[in-house]
Amino acid sequence: MKNLQLRFYIEHEQRLKRLCEFGARPKTMQALLSPRGGVHIQTFREIFTQLTGRTPKPGMSPAQDYAFLQKPGWRFKGSLILQAYIRLCELGAHHIDSLIEAYAFFLESSELEKSSEFSFERALILVRGFETGDLRFTKCACCSSHHVHERNEPVMCPVCNNGSFGGSRKRHRNRLLATFHQVG
Ligand SMILES: [Zn+2]
Repeated sequence: MKNLQLRFYIEHEQRLKRLCEFGARPKTMQALLSPRGGVHIQTFREIFTQLTGRTPKPGMSPAQDYAFLQKPGWRFKGSLILQAYIRLCELGAHHIDSLIEAYAFFLESSELEKSSEFSFERALILVRGFETGDLRFTKCACCSSHHVHERNEPVMCPVCNNGSFGGSRKRHRNRLLATFHQVG
């Protein structure tokens, strides 16, 4: 490693180790740790291979797109990550470390095969969306849990399954009707 690379590595060693454990793409690591591109993408590829013995995932990081939040399960997971992130920031942690620890918390608290589909890339998209104001984190008036949603989107709580969640909405309505008929 060249001197500059080595200095960068020493400065960010713990963060880089965690990001490699998460299987983050080199492009994602660069966006997070060297947003102006001062550290070359190849450095991140080399660090990933040295730390994990594997070749990093190819390609670009996914675009800043919130379509994945339309699935209640993903919205629920996103809400867990965002809640932990906001709390850690409030406690004074650096925003990069808050994101890393919030994602680690999410992995620990979910089943392995289910957590792998919510990549670290998505967690970064989520936090960025929140920081820019595209995404909001709102308390549900019905169940009091907090959930993430787009700024101009109607309330769609993943716990209550209300709003426009496709099939779930119909199921929710049918459940309500069944309860109503029982009472009647
Ligand atoms: Zn709710």
